[in-house]
Amino acid sequence: MKDCTRKYSYFAYLEGTLTDSEREAFELHLLDCERCRENLIQIQNFLDNIEKHKALKASPYTFTNVMGRIEQNRRAEIRYRKWQPAIIGLVGVVAILTGILLGNYFFKNTAQLTSYLNLNETYHEVIELSLLDNN
Ligand SMILES: [Zn+2]
Repeated sequence: MKDCTRKYSYFAYLEGTLTDSEREAFELHLLDCERCRENLIQIQNFLDNIEKHKALKASPYTFTNVMGRIEQNRRAEIRYRKWQPAIIGLVGVVAILTGILLGNYFFKNTAQLTSYLNLNETYHEVIELSLLDNN
């Protein structure tokens, strides 16, 4: 077996991601390079084994389980989408009510403060008047 120093991406070739000219050059090279042919066969076998392994691991139970979960997520999303306007509306109503209550609270405080100040003023006037009366 002669020593091959050319570097080809066997994976790229097997996945078909080489350009046409790269692929043609590689195939020409394969014709008289036993080492690359053997490498290619080994990598092909390796990839086939991975595929077989994947197929074995995805048992019908796992498959059903995964598909069930995907379906569940899809349904949850549909449910959320269905209720989304209602949820947004509810949040809006709560925000408006909070605003009204807060506004009311501060308005009341302001009203109390104003009436207190008015009362104070009246009180002062009364005192002043009584002082003036005494004189
Ligand atoms: Zn070679």
